[in-house]
Amino acid sequence: MKNSLKNILINLFIHKYAYPITTFMNAEELAAELIRFNTEVPPGNEEACAAFLRDYFLDLRLEECEVVLHRFAENRANLLVRVGPKGQAGLLLSGHIDVVPAGDHSLWENPPFEPKIVGDKLYGRGASDMKSAVAALVKAIENYKDKKLRRGIIFVATAGEEIGCDGLEALISDGKIKERDAMYGIIGEPTNLRVVRAHKGGTTFRITFHGKSAHSSRPELGINAIENASRFILEIAELRNRLKEIIDPDLGTTVISTTMINGGTKENVIPEKCQIIVDCRRIPLHSDRQIMAELNKIVDKIKNLEPSYNASIEIKFNYEALNIPKNHQLVLIAEEILGHKSEVAPYGTEGPIYQRIEIPTIILGPGKVENNIHGPNEYIEIKQIYDAINVYSEFIRRICI
Ligand SMILES: [Zn+2]
Repeated sequence: MKNSLKNILINLFIHKYAYPITTFMNAEELAAELIRFNTEVPPGNEEACAAFLRDYFLDLRLEECEVVLHRFAENRANLLVRVGPKGQAGLLLSGHIDVVPAGDHSLWENPPFEPKIVGDKLYGRGASDMKSAVAALVKAIENYKDKKLRRGIIFVATAGEEIGCDGLEALISDGKIKERDAMYGIIGEPTNLRVVRAHKGGTTFRITFHGKSAHSSRPELGINAIENASRFILEIAELRNRLKEIIDPDLGTTVISTTMINGGTKENVIPEKCQIIVDCRRIPLHSDRQIMAELNKIVDKIKNLEPSYNASIEIKFNYEALNIPKNHQLVLIAEEILGHKSEVAPYGTEGPIYQRIEIPTIILGPGKVENNIHGPNEYIEIKQIYDAINVYSEFIRRICI
């Protein structure tokens, strides 16, 4: 069928009639349909996209299949699908359906939510991070539509990954996914189809220094919050050196930096408030609590010298580290399928949340940073979507068939 006619038919059937949609759609078309839903976070609005995937699964008419649209906030939902026999599943296949904001649309050659195939690439927000991977995971499951599964498959499309994983946390706290629900997990985040089994955790702290305002001609009458912040910032540089003493053989060391500062009200006023942001990338040996304790120690140390010193520390954002051992069965299977050694990544994922509920999870998906992830004109090479389908299908064959 000619492509344009095919597209018209797809749109007609999807958007106008409740008719099986799966018959018509190849992988890049499915990815494109997912991109069409604007799921920028905030606010998310992932429910329509999750509902589309629900309908797609229902149309597949899989035997032994349970499809749950999990609404956790207004217009916000995850999709959870269980295929195959009950009991612990063999594989959990997961991807997020939210995307980071498209930013200035004038910087895009095509509108970000009107996916377009140009040559061998598919363009649109989420093309690489990570709607194509979601399409590939679905297509891999579809490959086994008529096969009897020995172990089940769980498919999870999550909302809100880019803003702290609120979708997945809601799925778990509502008891939809439980401890050890699957033997192994795969998240299709873009790794250029490399096997990633570890990454650092991250914590962002907001520290507020409380001072006292006074005329700048009489600084002794006030407490200068910016000067107090600067003493703290110098100590952060010291702390960075101390943290280097503990080394993780895979992930290196914990790093910590002051990344933002905001304070003062007027040129001639001693500032009464100053706020800084401290960003910390943690190896598994350093918990967010430990780092918090280190920051509190700095406050106490300065306070001992200067009793009027007053600072409050809060956690703005936090995610845990992923650390699946090199010799874990899942890593060995992945290395065998992909033909290369597993790696570590510099960014965070939902992996540690699955690891927390005892579903050891690796990160493995199509797309790479060079594909303008989080920037304008994001794209994916269509071949990578098909390579991903083959890889995921092989995992299913080895673990679930
Ligand atoms: Zn992502």
